[in-house]
Amino acid sequence: MMELKTAREIDAMRVTGTFVAGLLDDLAARAQVGVNLLDLEHRARQLIEQRGAVSCYWDYAPSFGRGPFRNVICLSVNDAVLHGLPRDYPLRDGDLLSMDIAVSIEGWVADSARSMIVGTPRAEDEHLIAATQRALAAGIAAALPGNRLGDVSSAIGAVAAEDGYPVNTQFGGHGLGRTMHEDPHVPNQGRPGRGLALRPGLTLALEPWFARGTDRIVYDPDGWTIRSADGSRTAHSEHTIAITDGEPLVLTSPDDGLRPRE
Ligand code: MG
Ligand code: MG
Repeated sequence: MMELKTAREIDAMRVTGTFVAGLLDDLAARAQVGVNLLDLEHRARQLIEQRGAVSCYWDYAPSFGRGPFRNVICLSVNDAVLHGLPRDYPLRDGDLLSMDIAVSIEGWVADSARSMIVGTPRAEDEHLIAATQRALAAGIAAALPGNRLGDVSSAIGAVAAEDGYPVNTQFGGHGLGRTMHEDPHVPNQGRPGRGLALRPGLTLALEPWFARGTDRIVYDPDGWTIRSADGSRTAHSEHTIAITDGEPLVLTSPDDGLRPRE
């Protein structure tokens, strides 16, 4: 299902998006060496409950998972990149942590992810994270009315190609609004000028994620956590955006989500 949202509905999604951004800020500040992933999960639950928000992950049971997800955040460390199941693991110096969360407030969803380094950074990890951030910015910049979905995908993929990162097209961005996953799928690679024409009111989660060495993935026995098949480190950056008559609105930006991009 794909639904164009009214300005009022986009405002409602921005309320959720601002909360999601603040939640990620809070967790990022806590994610220090020695902090357990379960502590981050519990903090996220606490903030969601205090806000009266609803987790989109709790009881999420897609075809690929093993039973319903019983957590509110995905925490993926190092070679894990997507759907990382929070587990009893104290963060170590130099870990690359990816956090991904989607919640709903008053029935409207926002979804955002970011990667960060815990403790001492490695240059190659910083480069990888920066590439996903630049790819996300490029995808957002291409999300203009009259452009097509392929323009967004190709803008994202071009950044990966510049840096030599392979792109997996199985998991990518998606429409969202009343639910976490709506049409269309937004691959992180594509052909310009192809696909759905972008129209004002379309809301999308764009989410480039790259592994340093491969586009192939493997699943943990938990059925959720997805890792790079070669064990190389991974990063993930995601924002929820709205297509407008002009520049897209970033709905999950920490403070200035109200303003279009300059
Ligand atoms: Mg997400
Ligand atoms: Mg998403």
